[in-house]
Amino acid sequence: MKNLWDINNVKRLLAQNGLTLSKTLGQNFLTDPEVCPRMAKLSGAREEAGVLEIGPGIGVLTRELAKTAGKVVTVELDRRLLSLLSDTLGDLDNVTVIQGDVLKLDLPELIRENFPPEMPVLVCANLPYYITSPVIMLLLESKLPFESITVMVQKEAAQRLCARVGSRQAGAVTVAVDYYARAEQLFDVPRESFLPSPKVDSSVMQLTVRQTPPIEVADEAGFFRMVKAAFSQRRKTAANGISAGTGLPKERIAAAIETAGFAADVRAETLTIEELARLYNSIAETGD
Ligand code: SAM
Repeated sequence: MKNLWDINNVKRLLAQNGLTLSKTLGQNFLTDPEVCPRMAKLSGAREEAGVLEIGPGIGVLTRELAKTAGKVVTVELDRRLLSLLSDTLGDLDNVTVIQGDVLKLDLPELIRENFPPEMPVLVCANLPYYITSPVIMLLLESKLPFESITVMVQKEAAQRLCARVGSRQAGAVTVAVDYYARAEQLFDVPRESFLPSPKVDSSVMQLTVRQTPPIEVADEAGFFRMVKAAFSQRRKTAANGISAGTGLPKERIAAAIETAGFAADVRAETLTIEELARLYNSIAETGD
């Protein structure tokens, strides 16, 4: 199989299969020879481990992962790519292509059916950017024992997802990610590395899933509802945001903020995840 990162090969394969790339499916294919080997290496792919990939495109990263991983399972939504993928990956006996929407598949069942129970599984993917956060949250909330999650996303998304909770760049999604994993930005990939070039640059980031969360909260879902509300209106104080977003009376939130030891006008973006947990537990206690 010829180099799948070679822009002339990509164009030829697409033309031979009568395909035009879909913007709505986030189809920007890698044409930089260095990115996939670097991602595969940093992902931790190795003979004893399996890899779940999302969105193989024409299979450029899939082939690289298959060189070292024991098994690669890759999920592609676009049915039009399936026959092309059987050409580009058909010679590899450790690769399985599954057609489907990653957000709708039964992930635990997919893992159970495709990897031996003792095999560690990691995720490595160049994600379709229109579903970056939903895919990352799905992977984390599934609580499947992924060893690590190494994904390419829009650079701004990587900055937000990997920000320190308690800094201006952090949002509700940063808190959610931090609850489940340690996040690290690994390297940037310029827009010129893709066909077609998107309007933004990209970054590869890695999530190392935590064995236990860094904080203890009485009710996870309730905690995340409060966090979402607290961050939803950036200009408002945490008290106003939480009250507006959860429907709880302002006086109750104000009392909980005081009991937790914060200033009345504290803003969510200044709080660490431990402080957010303290605030949540304080609100939960004042409800009794
Ligand atoms: N891995 C290839 C590469 O690096 O060149 C392609 C990456 S491209 C950014 C994203 C891929 O995800 C496309 O092949 C697209 O069709 C696929 N995709 C989009 N939405 C999807 C979904 N909901 N589930 C699975 N795959 C999806």
